[in-house]
Amino acid sequence: MKVMLLMGPPGVGKGTVSERLHARLGCRHISTGDLLRESIAKGTSLGHQAQGHMTRGELVPDGLMVALVEEQLDLNGGGDCLLDGFPRTQAQAQVLDKGLTERGARVDAVIELTAPDDVVLKRLGGRRVCATCGAGFHVTFIPPKSAGVCDRCGGALVQRPDDREEAILRRLAVYARQMAELRSYYRERGVLFPVDATGTPEQTEAGILTALSRA
Ligand code: AMP
Repeated sequence: MKVMLLMGPPGVGKGTVSERLHARLGCRHISTGDLLRESIAKGTSLGHQAQGHMTRGELVPDGLMVALVEEQLDLNGGGDCLLDGFPRTQAQAQVLDKGLTERGARVDAVIELTAPDDVVLKRLGGRRVCATCGAGFHVTFIPPKSAGVCDRCGGALVQRPDDREEAILRRLAVYARQMAELRSYYRERGVLFPVDATGTPEQTEAGILTALSRA
């Protein structure tokens, strides 16, 4: 099993790029943010425990996250995977390493998508998601065919509660702290690849494929 981690500030385009990589490489896309939002929508116990933290733009406690990801790695049945949004702390990174070692795998590449704050703020402000199927859109960059309606399932497009300005600023600050810790963890292990994400999704994907060819 090959494991690739995708990191980057909120709004940098991790979801869009993950969909493209999933289509191109056939790897499974495990997004902890999406899994938590699904748990909230289904009203599970994990969803109840995570909801307050998420709405405020804070991290969900490590214990809950680790259980969620270990379950996903096992569901994966050994296929290659792209982890998006995990790990977010050094404690999570250490548990992930241990879990992968037990499964005869390791983190093969960490892609760090980079873009300045003004670029991600513009992307986040216009971001909309389908309340029914979770598909992502952007009012300017990825507009739906009909305003406010999901192209894929016809559901209503909404703004994520944590995409409001106050939560966004907190999430950017949380990300900067988290990444400082993780950057040195993965740099020491020789698997960190920064990729510029200020261009189009095609350009970002090309940058990632180049980085992966060096991993
Ligand atoms: P995302 O969709 O990746 O931006 O995640 C949305 C929110 O889910 C974050 O702001 C956190 O509250 C929570 N979350 C997602 N992944 C993690 C994680 N690995 N550790 C802690 N909280 C997480």
